[in-house]
This record gives sequence, C-alpha cells and structure tokens, in this order.
Amino acid sequence: MLNSLRSMVCIIATLVLLPLCCGADPDTGIARSEPRNDKTANQPVNVTRQQVVDLSHTFDKQTIYWPTENGFRLIPEKAGITEKGYYYSSNRFMAAEHGGTHLDAPVHFNEKGKSVDRLPLQQLMGEAAVIDVTAACRQDPDYQISVADLRAWEEKTGRQLVDVIVLLNTGYAKYWPDRKKYLGTDQLGPEAVAELHFPGLDPEAARWLTEHRAIKAIGLDTASIDYGQSTRFQSHVTLFKHQIPAFENVADMSRLPISGSTVIALPMKIGGGSGGPLRIVAWLPSEDATSGSRKEP
Ligand SMILES: [Zn+2]
Repeated sequence: MLNSLRSMVCIIATLVLLPLCCGADPDTGIARSEPRNDKTANQPVNVTRQQVVDLSHTFDKQTIYWPTENGFRLIPEKAGITEKGYYYSSNRFMAAEHGGTHLDAPVHFNEKGKSVDRLPLQQLMGEAAVIDVTAACRQDPDYQISVADLRAWEEKTGRQLVDVIVLLNTGYAKYWPDRKKYLGTDQLGPEAVAELHFPGLDPEAARWLTEHRAIKAIGLDTASIDYGQSTRFQSHVTLFKHQIPAFENVADMSRLPISGSTVIALPMKIGGGSGGPLRIVAWLPSEDATSGSRKEP
C-alpha cells in the first residue's frame, strides 16, 4: 500500500514538474502559439488498474481569471533547430496566483494562515466526497451550497464528512472557457465584479464544516468558494481561519462517484504564496472496490 502510494506520488510529481521546468522537452514547445483546448487531454487514463481523471483546466489564452486580473501569458523564447542540430524550445509564463484551476492557501484571507508551500501533503490528498448540486445551480446562478446539501451526502453514504476532500459539483465546469456563462459577465475591470453570478459555498455551511466536521480541503468548479455576489467573502474567511485550503475552477467532476475516489491536488510550491496553479487529479475506485461497496448494506 505504502509502495503503491509512493509510486503514485512519484508519477504525479513528474506530471506536475515536467511542464514547469523542462525547456528542452520537445513536447512542451509544440503548441506554443495556439491555445490548447484539447479535449482528449482530459480523457481518463489507465494507471495500474485504476482510471485517473484530470480535474485541471489547461493554462492558456482562454484561461479564466478574476475580472481585475491579467490573464495567463505564455511568452515564447526559443523554438527551433540549434546550430548543433538538435531541436530546442523554451518559454516563460506569467500568471496571477489566483486564476485558472488553482489553490487558495489560508493566508489568502488570514494573516496567520499557512502559505501554499506550508500546506501538509495530507491535506492535499484523500478521499473525495462529491456533493452534487448541479440541479439547484442550473435553476439559480446565485445558489449557495447549504448545510442540507452536505448532510444529504452523509445520509446517502451513511458517513460523516470527516477526513475527506469535499468537492462541490455545481456543473459550471461545462461552461468553461465561456466567461459570460461561467462568471455571469465577460466584462473586465473593477466594475465587472458586481456583475459576477455563479454558485458558491454558503458561509453558514463553511461554519458548520469547520465547527462540526473535520475536512482536509474543499474545492468547486466555479471561480470562487464564495458565490459571485459575495462582497465579504465569509466562506473564505471561515475556512482559512481553520487552515482549510480551497480549490477553485476545478474541471468537470461528472465521472467521479459521490465517494470512493482519491484526489491528489498538488499546487505549484510557491514560497510564501497565497495560492497557486493547481494540478488536481482523481483516481476512480477500481472495479473491485466499486463492486465491493455495492455489497454493503
Ligand atoms: Zn483563489
């Protein structure tokens, strides 16, 4: 078990680090000019006997950032055959910490909160508890996920939200990268902030989770853990007071069962960072585990 976990972590670390550091990798330079919205990149892959689902959006020109932020920039530097005959490419990138699929570290809204590099790995890996609120969010773009929604998961599974990574599936990932549908506005600048409409976590539910349950982390497929119309960001404040990080702009979760999948969410390890780009994946339960859980009463 330990060995398989170790090799799992190695594979994930390689996947995260390769695109960030290796300018000489020919694969990284090919799609430099065109934004990649390659759906096949998000198809599940088989690793050992389990399928792994990519829950991160690609960082490119279309990546959604807060209306007051600049977007992601890939700055081409070199691409071509060198004098010595080998191909070489390398780029620079510029990005705000908070945009695209990313992690909010507690220090984002808590002066004494942990920065992204200080978050323990235990909080970034664990079983996913997927809360399906797609129907409610389809009806109401200002929907706030309630204590009742969280308790519905507990009733269905017969378990408490303890030692899990809570993933709120609002269904908004399917609107990505259409800013108008995803954020409620495609305007930019400070005035656009009042026009934001998308679902988030009710501050009361954040309070309940931190006072009555013990979760590792929480994520959702909208631009903020507080809903678009929030002005005081109280779910952020409450979660981060308790050192619980949040994942935002998570990609499509529809392949995940409500329990039993394993999430690994590794942000870029920025020293002192208030957050950072996040590669998040989910290991689906194996066939055996699924049929095993079906036998349970
Ligand atoms: Zn953020």
